[in-house]
Amino acid sequence: MIERILVTGGAGFLGSYLCERLVDQGHDVICLDNFFTSQKSNVAALLDRPNFELIRHDITLPIFLEVDQIYNLACPAAPGHYQYNPIKTMKTSVMGAINMLGIAKRCGARILQASTSEVYGDPEVHPQVESYRGSVNPIGIRACYDEGKRAAETLFMDYHRSNNVDVRIVRIFNTFGPRMHPFDGRVVSNFIRQALADEDITLFGDGSQTRSFCYRDDLVDVIIRMMNQDDLVGPVNIGNPGEFTIRELAEKIIQLSGSSSQLVHRPLPSDDPTRRRPDISLAKKELGWEPKVPLEEGLKHTIAWFKSIDLSDYRPPTP
Ligand code: NAD
Ligand code: UDP
Repeated sequence: MIERILVTGGAGFLGSYLCERLVDQGHDVICLDNFFTSQKSNVAALLDRPNFELIRHDITLPIFLEVDQIYNLACPAAPGHYQYNPIKTMKTSVMGAINMLGIAKRCGARILQASTSEVYGDPEVHPQVESYRGSVNPIGIRACYDEGKRAAETLFMDYHRSNNVDVRIVRIFNTFGPRMHPFDGRVVSNFIRQALADEDITLFGDGSQTRSFCYRDDLVDVIIRMMNQDDLVGPVNIGNPGEFTIRELAEKIIQLSGSSSQLVHRPLPSDDPTRRRPDISLAKKELGWEPKVPLEEGLKHTIAWFKSIDLSDYRPPTP
């Protein structure tokens, strides 16, 4: 069935690929974005498609639209981006959620929240299961994002319980791939940029902290699957359970890009989680999903994309 679908943050790294997939499926897609951390080039190829519409709008402000489904992805996601204006980050998560839940309530639309593994903070439970309530420092430099996303989950569940809004919540773990912002400061983009320029690779701390990296295509597959099933509200963890130290990631990227870069150490930012790996049993059981693309293959695609872009086309975030 053809749906009218709103994607907030639809010009971003994940949002633009999601829009592409939904437009290809024939849906009427409205992409809403304020371009804080993205650029129009991410959706340029969609602009002449008759079932795609782009609206420049900030989700902290109300908007009136008639839709059947809403994917709520608008929010800066990289630490350097969300810490740039932390108060705005919190407003985007909380006021954005209220505005989008309001549309869902009025239209009877189903709404999916892009939550995050950051709701677990620096986890004492490993791997992280959905029932774990997390260990977030509420007054630290990551809190604007972590607590904003936690508050958004609360709003989603309260609109669901009190107003019968049809919600879905996914907790996304580190995801990478083509179209990630090359200057977002995240580990994959930093390391690939540094490796391709044969510059020093910056390991924060001793590089023993771990992350689990999911390729973009796998992630967008399961987001669409989550939206279009009737049984599971969530939250559900989605990510790739392969776990790597940041040092291992650096070594892989050096090897795959044939780089002569050296590893150098930089201070570890405060509250940087020590280890992170999703338990995806729930997604496997209820959604019949697990990631297909191994880290190395995903990195090859991403390195090829980084080689194909002109870095001067990308600007740092602006308010
Ligand atoms: P991104 O920064 O590329 O995309 C976010 C988009 O939201 C950008 O286009 C940005 O301009 C837009 N945006 C930000 N604030 C806005 C506002 N107030 N109004 C309208 N638009 C706004 O990041 P991404 O990696 O594509 O992340 C998409 C979503 O997935 C985010 O909600 C993020 O928190 C979540 N997520 C991503 C990851 C990951 O590893 N990529 C992990 C966990 C959760
Ligand atoms: N990191 C690093 N060097 C960099 C950028 C990041 O060692 O140039 C580390 C960072 O300290 C963290 C991990 O890589 O431990 C992942 O960082 P990222 O910002 O990508 O995501 P997040 O911390 O939100 O998972």
